[in-house]
Amino acid sequence: MTHTIGNAARPLWVAVVGAGPAGFYAIESLLKSDAQVRVDIFERLPTPFGLVRSGVAPDHQSIKGVTRIYDKILADERVRFFGHVTVGHDITPDELLTHYDQVIYAVGAQSDRKMGIPGEALVGSAPATAFVGWYNAHPDYRDAQFDLQCARVVVIGNGNVAMDVTRALMAPVDELATTDMADHAVAALRASRVQQVVMLGRRGPVQAAFTTPELKEFGELHGVDVLLDADDFVLDETSETYLSTEKVAARNMDVMRDYMARAPHGSGRSIHMQFLWSPVEIIGAQGRVTGIVVERNRLEPDGNGGVKAVGTGVTRTIECGLVLRSVGYRSVPIAGVPFDDKRGLFPNRDGRMLVSAGGDVLARCYVVGWAKRGPSGVIGTNKPDSVATVTAMKEDWPTLQVPTHRDGNTIVQLLAARHVTVIDYAKWQKIDAHESAAGAAHGRPRVKLTRVADMLDVAQ
Ligand code: NAP
Repeated sequence: MTHTIGNAARPLWVAVVGAGPAGFYAIESLLKSDAQVRVDIFERLPTPFGLVRSGVAPDHQSIKGVTRIYDKILADERVRFFGHVTVGHDITPDELLTHYDQVIYAVGAQSDRKMGIPGEALVGSAPATAFVGWYNAHPDYRDAQFDLQCARVVVIGNGNVAMDVTRALMAPVDELATTDMADHAVAALRASRVQQVVMLGRRGPVQAAFTTPELKEFGELHGVDVLLDADDFVLDETSETYLSTEKVAARNMDVMRDYMARAPHGSGRSIHMQFLWSPVEIIGAQGRVTGIVVERNRLEPDGNGGVKAVGTGVTRTIECGLVLRSVGYRSVPIAGVPFDDKRGLFPNRDGRMLVSAGGDVLARCYVVGWAKRGPSGVIGTNKPDSVATVTAMKEDWPTLQVPTHRDGNTIVQLLAARHVTVIDYAKWQKIDAHESAAGAAHGRPRVKLTRVADMLDVAQ
């Protein structure tokens, strides 16, 4: 039946799955509406903030200041935090729909895209997602191993994640040690023998997806030369035209040309940015990476005003001990929730979940953030994206088929009956205080707990 909801007698109950930026911006928008709203956040980890905690680079602490907004939302009496609760395991999507009027999936893109080339499964070939999670103390990657005893690492991809990963490998460890980078990563980087990171772009320097501030940071790394190959800077006509209108690309080109003109430090440590090379095969010996075969590309118009990389058949091998692929993220499916496997996201139209890509609307289910649009944009991009989904949710309010009564305690009882150790807001505050105090003792923003068991211990 359709009822009047969103008033004091019958507030609207919303479940948000995932406690990252996109989820918080959706909640912010819901709380600002005229309706009476109650929001419960379900998060797999005991800790909130998603990629702001476990994705943003440790040397970009100022960006993490955005959590002050999310903290206020968590402290709002209309919001409850159910940390350490996995939807699809501790509670099913169908159960959420019986307890809530609307459900928002804000689960991000936790997995990586594969390149689909031979050798990707060798030891020493890993996704950037794992490396980033490892140095950012994500519990899933606590025990990951990265061999930093080799002389050269190859990073594939030209996005800002590739920049973050490259910088983490080459930045002065004493500086990283003052951040919230995981202690295990600081120790491994301190013992690192890596002398060079080769960063590979399949298209040209004009088409690089990274932004200028990140590129400039390369040039500020103490004792590190940024090497570029003049051949990569002979531009085709389409790239020249693009450059004349695209400011970011033009600024990037200025910075890279400046790097090319610099005299080398001669320290032996370098970042070598190579363009127009595609990975063809990762090669190894005894199951471990020893190098990567790459093919020279040329650029051809792609028919949409851009250019695509086309192989020339010319190949060479770059010796290395570690290959990190940074070619984009994918969402991870949740049992009982539709998934678009081709695009690696949750099928939706304007944020309304669909039963399948291009199919009908799945009533009362919504999507925000990378789970909705794919892995693009910065943290702030999620705000208008989430507001757009909440607009769709509001449009649906008059026709929602929901019961007259909802009781916020039943979900608490259900999880207790299943012996789920829920980390609520007060318990998260204990974890937060513990980490901050551990950091303050060493002049660091925080020392993160890296194991879920330790987080639960501190929270109890
Ligand atoms: P991205 O910006 O989409 O970059 C992906 C890169 O992978 C592109 O250079 C792409 O090249 C390349 N690629 C894709 N498939 C490939 C293949 N098969 N072989 C070789 N190269 C391939 O993705 P991202 O770096 O993962 O970043 C995700 C989002 O987070 C972006 O919006 C990024 O700006 C944002 N982010 C921002 C910051 C920051 O603000 N500091 C930090 C991290 C991430 P093509 O262009 O040729 O497809």
